[in-house]
Amino acid sequence: MFDLIYRFDTSGNAKMPDPADALEARARLEAGNREFATITLLDEGTTNSRVVRLDASALGLADRNGLPPIQRPFAAVLGCADARVPIELIFGQAANDLFVVRVAGNVLGAECLGSLDYAVSNLGGSLKLIVVLGHTSCGAVAAAVEAFIHPHRYLDFATSHPLRAIIERILVAVRAAHRALEQIYTQDVEELPGYRNALHETSIAMNAAITAATLKNEFRESLGPHLDVAYGVYDLQTRRVGLQANSEPDIVRLLLPPSIAEGFDRLGKSIAQSESIRAMLHPTRS
Ligand SMILES: [Zn+2]
Repeated sequence: MFDLIYRFDTSGNAKMPDPADALEARARLEAGNREFATITLLDEGTTNSRVVRLDASALGLADRNGLPPIQRPFAAVLGCADARVPIELIFGQAANDLFVVRVAGNVLGAECLGSLDYAVSNLGGSLKLIVVLGHTSCGAVAAAVEAFIHPHRYLDFATSHPLRAIIERILVAVRAAHRALEQIYTQDVEELPGYRNALHETSIAMNAAITAATLKNEFRESLGPHLDVAYGVYDLQTRRVGLQANSEPDIVRLLLPPSIAEGFDRLGKSIAQSESIRAMLHPTRS
């Protein structure tokens, strides 16, 4: 068992100091996720607990002479709408810490970009980091993988604008993931029994990385040590944010996206070579 306790505090001391820069903001999110993943490790007969202190003023509970709280997030997160990925919870953050935009497949449509643009343009006093967060077993990415593997079936969606708006934005990542798998496992990779799963998981990471790089390009004039863009993949089983390509899969880490085509090529290949992807493609060898 574990207890996750939100403790309201009216003393004015509950809000943690704002991170000084993007590096500190990444470290704070990583530490929050590490703690979350750790307390959810269930030990028979013991109860883990963690207290998240909520500054009452963040919810308008403290006396500010009748004024509403001031919005002061230190990070913006573009995450998937999937109900299994509650953003504040998995990063161990409280109210007014994160500016969260959630949409299926964490794709970057005009409205999402507009929301993030608002954060960058208006919350720059506190905002230090923009994060794109994918997650394992993402249904939106699975739909794009299906469309890639069976293009003829995609005609079924041809007249569904809402579905196409999501799937077509993810297809670029699926193509990049397929290319990476081909480069590592030859063109016969499609014949391997775990190809679909391997393509799915590789695409999830590539989708987050490509979206993060797109944001980096979009906001390039606003970025610097004080504001940066990172990405990660939340693992539904370990509850850790990281990347398949990590040599130590249990490590929590937010990563900086590549900025050039060769960087995506290298990233795709390193994910494709990771132990978990290899095990999906060759289940009997693992
Ligand atoms: Zn998803």
